[in-house]
Amino acid sequence: MTAGKTQGAGVPTSGAYNRRANLALAAVLFIALPISTVQAMPKLLDGGQWLILDQAAAFALAAMSLNLLLGYTGQISLGHAGLLGVGAFASGVVTSRAELPMIVGLVVAVIASALVALIIGIPALRLRGLYLAIATVAFGIAMQYSVFRSDWLSAGSAGIALPRRLWGEHYLTTDATDNATFLVICLLLLLAAWIVDSNVLNTRVGRAFRAIRENEPVAQSFGINVTRYKLLAFVLSGAMAGLAGALYGHTIGFVNNESFTLEQSLLLVTMVIVGGMGHRLAVIIAAATFVIFPFVLPGLKGYELVVGAAILMLTVAQHPEGIADLLTARHRPLATDDEDDDAAMPELPNLPLPSGMVTQRPGTGTVLEVQDVTVRFGGLVAVDGASLRVPAGKIIGLIGPNGAGKSTLFNAVSGLVRVDRGVIRYRGQEIQGMRCDQRARLGIARSFQQVGLAKDLSMRENFLLAQHQLASYGDVSALLMLPKAWRTEQLFRERADEAVSSLGLSDLADMPVRNLSGGQQRLVEIGCLLVTAPDLVMLDEPSAGMAPAAAESLAERLRDLRDKLGRTVLLIEHNVPLVLDTCDYVYVLDAGQIIAEGPPEEITSQQQVIDAYFGAAVTA
Ligand code: ADP
Ligand code: MG
Repeated sequence: MTAGKTQGAGVPTSGAYNRRANLALAAVLFIALPISTVQAMPKLLDGGQWLILDQAAAFALAAMSLNLLLGYTGQISLGHAGLLGVGAFASGVVTSRAELPMIVGLVVAVIASALVALIIGIPALRLRGLYLAIATVAFGIAMQYSVFRSDWLSAGSAGIALPRRLWGEHYLTTDATDNATFLVICLLLLLAAWIVDSNVLNTRVGRAFRAIRENEPVAQSFGINVTRYKLLAFVLSGAMAGLAGALYGHTIGFVNNESFTLEQSLLLVTMVIVGGMGHRLAVIIAAATFVIFPFVLPGLKGYELVVGAAILMLTVAQHPEGIADLLTARHRPLATDDEDDDAAMPELPNLPLPSGMVTQRPGTGTVLEVQDVTVRFGGLVAVDGASLRVPAGKIIGLIGPNGAGKSTLFNAVSGLVRVDRGVIRYRGQEIQGMRCDQRARLGIARSFQQVGLAKDLSMRENFLLAQHQLASYGDVSALLMLPKAWRTEQLFRERADEAVSSLGLSDLADMPVRNLSGGQQRLVEIGCLLVTAPDLVMLDEPSAGMAPAAAESLAERLRDLRDKLGRTVLLIEHNVPLVLDTCDYVYVLDAGQIIAEGPPEEITSQQQVIDAYFGAAVTA
């Protein structure tokens, strides 16, 4: 086992952990709810203490909202308090100015924050990492110092009241009983958000989020519209943040611009990181702890930020997985060395053939036609007027020295880079203007030189992810897990299990893919490409990282792809025996130009090719 593979070894993703966490929370709520509603319960704590628990619940929801954005989707927001504020002010306007019940305020808060989040999601489509962080800080500060101070919302720092109006002139006051009742409301809403969040994770929506976090090009090649799902993540996170902000506002009864500060935004990020990015229950525990502790240990008062920062640094340095590490540690299977070694598995298993993935006839004619395509990166011409043709039912090889532009040509065909000139036709249709995910839907599947899987997800989850474009249920159906989404997901799961077991890797199904051997990862990748029954399969150096024996049996699998499954294959390969063994026709690319083409035996004996390719390969 290599050092790289040991990192974060063997943590099973979602699956078992989620189910247990769900059950745990449901159990806690079912016990807590009836108890807290009986008259005796409020007397256990005084009004102020109940209020702290109300705040803890509101912050748990706020942290869950950031967890969806940061933990699942990998989009940083350092201005999340701004979204909480939008919710609180919206509910304030509804309940204190329009004198409507709190329930209306909460609904308006959710809608208002979701809309604002959609707007701040737009820059996130172009900005990444530090730049996105700065943009969201700017959003939070703009809200704090200008919008929330506007005359209309709060008349400067005067703020706005958030009465807990139930209906008419019935209010929840701030005595112990009413604060306890409000806690019940908060917990019920937290439970509702928990269920939606869990549905997100268990459907194509959450898989799209997590694939985007890990690797956007890979996500796109699986047919995920990255723009759409990033915006959806912002909207969902904004909706939850709005609800959290409104609950927080109704807890303390009054907010002004100082209620939603940059410190609060940073505290939310701390909660998510200390809890463990992407682990809902752990994030909730962290959030509740951060709210409650300063009150339990009054000596801490005033030093919360120092203590919080210390805990954050300790977490990042010592337990990057946060509290979630403790919750999942027990379920960690021990990875053994031989599982990681390709030498132990020289024979590659058969390609998975999940049901529904029918063997098809390749048809006739030309599947792919690349005509005079040029791709430039600034001054560098990576592909220079290249043309090639891939007829149906054949394996076409694309060879050439490193840096020749082979991968770039793949990217041009699959839509990850724009072509500067030239035409790309798929089954006669011009596709060079389409988005990557649209081309994937047409039936173009591709692998990546560095294995195109979401490597932190398990094998099973990758097979689910690969079926993204087959899911016909809508987002609402997913969030509420309506029957259509449920049935589709069941079917996907069956197919994923079938694929995993046909690879003979059932034992490793819930292991993050990065813990598999190079050969296993390749096979899972090719298997994932096949579940959508694509017409054209483009493979970028599939034998890279495989043991020689495994590469030999790869040739057989590639021929299966053509002869048994009826696919058309475009293959980039450095392994010359493999090319000779499988390809029907070969193109040679050098410095972006096609310098030779022909049947493989002929090509490998041409002096020009030997000079360009084999000379370079030998010296390299
Ligand atoms: P090959 O796959 O044949 O080894 P590539 O297509 O990866 O070659 O690269 C061709 C050339 O384009 C190389 O010089 C590489 O550095 C350059 N290149 C590839 N991708 C990019 C990019 N995204 N930005 C800038 N240059 C790139
Ligand atoms: Mg390459």
